[in-house]
Amino acid sequence: MRIHFLGTNGWFPSRMGNTVCAAIGWRDRLLVLDAGDGFSKLAPLMAKLRVRKADVFLSHLHLDHAIGLHSLPLMPKGFEIRIFAHKSYLRALKQLIAHPYTATPEEEFAKVKLLPLKTGCNRLPYSVQLLPLKHADPCFGMRFELDGKAVAYCTDTGTCKNISRLANGADLLITECGLLPGSSPNNAWPHLSPEMAAGEAKKAGAHRLILSHFDANKYPSPTLRKRAQKAARKIFPQAIAAEDGMEFEI
Ligand SMILES: [Zn+2]
Repeated sequence: MRIHFLGTNGWFPSRMGNTVCAAIGWRDRLLVLDAGDGFSKLAPLMAKLRVRKADVFLSHLHLDHAIGLHSLPLMPKGFEIRIFAHKSYLRALKQLIAHPYTATPEEEFAKVKLLPLKTGCNRLPYSVQLLPLKHADPCFGMRFELDGKAVAYCTDTGTCKNISRLANGADLLITECGLLPGSSPNNAWPHLSPEMAAGEAKKAGAHRLILSHFDANKYPSPTLRKRAQKAARKIFPQAIAAEDGMEFEI
């Protein structure tokens, strides 16, 4: 299975890249983790990989995770897009992908469906476990079980027990890097430093860790991302700092 990183910034796009979006190739579809403005690269990726289905999972609706849905009309007719979010977000999500937030052109484009997720285990053709994380608004971490591989996606959170639950023994934990190396936890702005992220991966017994969602304001250069990777590796050697365009095989 290959994971494509389409956006790796948190908060806003910058010369470092787009806001968060990653896509896991699984069988006949892509499983998409969040829809920041990196989501606009999804239609060309689907065309290149010759897949017509995408299941999009939203951790929450802060705009760096959802603004890319504005580019849904880029998805051509014949594509099937299912967007999953916690059931409490469906009403707002419905508004976000319609006028006056998102234009819907007259030409037909992909079939788009919104579907609710519940906390706990959701049975789709694969299993998705959803648990709340620690953030300023409700935000959900996920664990996907895909043909014997487990991938946990926990973004926009301070340290919390549910990261360990979701990433327990996972082949890969994808998490966030909203704070700089050496930062202290900030309850008013709950995010992870590279050391906190590495500590969570270690505690969970995950096999590998990818840091994404680098705060655009705090990480304006590639050097700073490398510094974060170095800090994380001191605690968890299998850590990688993501960048837009990176592909990763699990
Ligand atoms: Zn965010």
